[in-house]
Amino acid sequence: MPHIATTNPVTGQVLKTYEAMSTEQLDAAIERADLAYRQLRGTTVDERARWMNAAADLLDAERDEIARIMTTEMGKTYVAAQAEVTKCAAAARFYAERAPGFLADQPADAAAVKATRAFIRYQPIGVVLAVMPWNFPLWQVMRFAAPALMAGNTGLLKHASNVPQTALLLEDVFRRAGFPEGAFTTLLVGSDAVERILADPRVRAATLTGSEAAGRSIAQIAGRELKRTVLELGGSDPFVVMPSADVDRAAEVATTARCQNNGQSCIAAKRFIVHTDVFDAFAEKFAANMAALRVGDPMDPDTDVGPLASERGRDEVHAQVRDAADRGATVLCGGELPSGDGWFYPPTVVTDLTPEMRMWSEEVFGPVAGLYRVSSYEEAIEVANGTSFGLGSNAWTRDTAEQERFATDLDAGNVFVNGMTTSYPELPFGGVKNSGYGRELSELGMREFCNIKTVWVGEGAASAGAGAHAE
Ligand code: NAP
Repeated sequence: MPHIATTNPVTGQVLKTYEAMSTEQLDAAIERADLAYRQLRGTTVDERARWMNAAADLLDAERDEIARIMTTEMGKTYVAAQAEVTKCAAAARFYAERAPGFLADQPADAAAVKATRAFIRYQPIGVVLAVMPWNFPLWQVMRFAAPALMAGNTGLLKHASNVPQTALLLEDVFRRAGFPEGAFTTLLVGSDAVERILADPRVRAATLTGSEAAGRSIAQIAGRELKRTVLELGGSDPFVVMPSADVDRAAEVATTARCQNNGQSCIAAKRFIVHTDVFDAFAEKFAANMAALRVGDPMDPDTDVGPLASERGRDEVHAQVRDAADRGATVLCGGELPSGDGWFYPPTVVTDLTPEMRMWSEEVFGPVAGLYRVSSYEEAIEVANGTSFGLGSNAWTRDTAEQERFATDLDAGNVFVNGMTTSYPELPFGGVKNSGYGRELSELGMREFCNIKTVWVGEGAASAGAGAHAE
């Protein structure tokens, strides 16, 4: 049986457990989602926008309680959890406001295709399964749910097994906001149920945010079932610092970029690739900033870094650091497993890394930075792109020609110059290589789960369609 439970990472105490849904309950939930889809696709976008705005209002009004639950379930600081709830409300409003434009018929060149009228119509595709991770337990779900529901799809959420309360709470928010029963349903199931759900003919597509292993598994099932998928997987983002950079500012932002969300973000900067001309200055400032972060109770507003979400996750991070140190890497700060309760890990900086060390090629999901010295732009690009991942990337340089080169040469789904990678509802988000495929957010994220329908209208006379090529 899957272990679906709230366990406080500060104490290791199991606070609440849930029984997984039976096969019959799961089947009934899928049926309700399918019925709700039939209902939702008959609603207008303005009606859905009213419900989405109401959901945003509920999130704002209940922010503190939702944030407290998130912190209790996965250990992010309460301040960060509050900001996450606010960001979700803003994304809901963004899609409520912009969906009418994103979904409007898009005219095509009718004369070129010998039509009297030709256009593209965006329509929903049906029930979409969302398999989501615990690290941003509300935001990861909202960035799928807001565009999907606004397009007229319905959502089935299989959330990570350690954040069931957050998952149920979001279902409740959408219901109270006015969305029809079944429009958004939390499935209390383990990952072993995903194959059955995805194989169900009523489920038309899936989106996963999670590990590479989960991505491979879901893509395999979806391939067999001919279902569309969006995969947002891991990352090991480079953060390149060049000689013209503002080194103090870069070292400050690097600290936040690595340790936000207790170091458990797919788009956290993980590999710090620094030109030799500024390496020593950067390394000294960065290690000092990292060592000065306050690790402790995530409910305390003065805490910078709370515990990792699970004991297994914390042990894995420590094993990656030990592996590097045992093979000759230098630990500039941190690296020691703290004693006492909770799954805390100190902000850590490791340098003198070599390719045989795990940290060189693996994603490190905790507050641990790898520091690399390079002596040219070309070498910086080689190290930055020398990974199987390609999610986000950061480059620090005040040289505008170099900024242009980084924008082109970094092999990633995004490039942030003189700033840290983040996500905005206005901008598409996603990766290349083993970081996955497809895009979330912006109008592109909404269209991933639309039937992009071509409509061609002729005169209705016998010659309609004449001149088209047979296919
Ligand atoms: P994970 O183990 O893959 O879990 C994510 C979700 O997938 C959970 O709901 C999990 O369910 C489910 N799952 C796990 N294995 C599965 C399988 N074989 N088949 C179907 N579902 C499966 O990921 P994690 O380690 O908790 O989360 C961290 C990972 O997510 C990191 O690699 C991180 O970079 C990535 N991430 C990516 C993004 C992005 O946007 N690209 C954002 C955030 C996180 P259970 O909890 O029940 O196991």
